[in-house]
Amino acid sequence: MTKRLLAVAFGVFSLFAGVANAKLAVFSCEPEWGSLLAELGGDKLDVDVGTSALQDVHVIEAKPSLIAKMRRADLVVCSGADLEIGWLPQLVHQSGNPKVASGAGSFMAADQITTLEKPTQLDRANGDVHPGGNPHFQMDPNRVLIIAKALDARLAELDPPNAGLYQQRLADFSTRWTAAIARWSAKAAPLKGRKVVVHRNSWIYRTDWLGMHEIGSLEPKPGVPPTSAHLASLIDTTKSQNTLAIIRAAYQDPKPADWLAERTGVPAVTLPLTVGGDAQSKDLFGLYDSTIDKLLGAVK
Ligand SMILES: [Zn+2]
Repeated sequence: MTKRLLAVAFGVFSLFAGVANAKLAVFSCEPEWGSLLAELGGDKLDVDVGTSALQDVHVIEAKPSLIAKMRRADLVVCSGADLEIGWLPQLVHQSGNPKVASGAGSFMAADQITTLEKPTQLDRANGDVHPGGNPHFQMDPNRVLIIAKALDARLAELDPPNAGLYQQRLADFSTRWTAAIARWSAKAAPLKGRKVVVHRNSWIYRTDWLGMHEIGSLEPKPGVPPTSAHLASLIDTTKSQNTLAIIRAAYQDPKPADWLAERTGVPAVTLPLTVGGDAQSKDLFGLYDSTIDKLLGAVK
């Protein structure tokens, strides 16, 4: 090969390397933000999702495979509000990647919205209470839209050449999402005012949005596994209030909800909680379709 050919070959190689490098590498802590990133960035982003719907995202092991993914990230996108306090700081630290430690490379969804259940005083005796408020806001479509706008601005900031494209994709997502909110609200009308018992306090944004009421939790305190004495104490309340369902997430042990369902005749319903939690929840839209359909399925 001549020197000239070599130079051309090298040039072509660098061109491809340049294109590959141009993709923004994003580490998403949870599947719901992975889905949102796909909506906003499409193939301009290279997204790694660190956890699945079948895991309890409060307790994830900082495995070497996750550290490797964190090391190559330009941006980390997580729920925040200390949901990932048990593993994310360790992951960021061990990756040695300064880009995602703070500043533009660190996007915490909780910082873009107001959270519910922000504790007025912090006491570990109250269980696994998050100081930043309840971090399970992916269940509220209005907050998801606010987060989408903020995340889109962040993508444009980190990847200016594609800013126009991100803007266009956000506009498209907003249109489809707003139409879906209207559709979901109308469809979910029969759920208004209905009461549910929850396995854990992960559903407050959903019940709040749909005008539903949580009347009990299988966990005596958040993060404290159900005890037989506590479950027994829920039988009367669950029976007497025309309760719609006992709700648990896909990753949770089904036994406590089944136990209460058997003794009260109130159905136990497994909801996905995030993208990938069931066959229908392939993306954010499917997640909302599925959770509403499954709750409606319990209406007699
Ligand atoms: Zn929690």
